[in-house]
Amino acid sequence: MSEAYLFPPMPPISLAIRGEKTRFPVHRIYCIGRNYEAHAREMAATVNLEAPVFFSKPADALVTGNADVPYPSATLDLHHEVELVVALGSGGGDLSVAAALTTVIGYAVGLDLTRRDLQAAAKAKGLPWDSAKGFDHSAPISSLSLVSAIGHPQQGRLSLEVNGSVRQQVDIADMVLQVGEILAALSTLYQLRAGDLIFTGTPAGVAALRRGDRFRASFPGIDELTGRIV
Ligand code: MN
Repeated sequence: MSEAYLFPPMPPISLAIRGEKTRFPVHRIYCIGRNYEAHAREMAATVNLEAPVFFSKPADALVTGNADVPYPSATLDLHHEVELVVALGSGGGDLSVAAALTTVIGYAVGLDLTRRDLQAAAKAKGLPWDSAKGFDHSAPISSLSLVSAIGHPQQGRLSLEVNGSVRQQVDIADMVLQVGEILAALSTLYQLRAGDLIFTGTPAGVAALRRGDRFRASFPGIDELTGRIV
């Protein structure tokens, strides 16, 4: 017997997988802040290795298929943050660094779009970042490349171009916490699950996006993420 619903439930949210017919079903989106020293400095923030900054976005904030991104309401300062994204194929709680890395099934490239003006106001008042980070269409993302195809990248150039000019570029070896360390720390706060995505932090060079801007984010072995702010 099938359940009856008051209105149609949301369809599952999923990512395409490079070279595969099956899709990756998304559970939650977690993000880490201040994971590159130079970006922490440009935000006048400090890195605290003992207490990483975590926040989250709703799964339906994802923008897939290189679709257009609508300029959000309530901001005059939409910022790009290009990030390597980790996708989990299993999960757990209180994981060791080694165990945490075995939960990773793939990698993607994403933008952690941010209403910087709202974030600055929230920081000044000690208020939560939700409306600065978790708004509709705030997480454009590429297709997933599987670990079985590309392994676990520990170096390589993460790059973002806007209108053909490089805005952000870094070697991911410069991350403060590496992927296994991020997941181990996160797993002390949440039970990680298959389908979770983790945005691993942005390098220096965050700046404004305007309507009409075209962006292109890349990392070796992963399909490019492209799109337009409309
Ligand atoms: Mn970010």
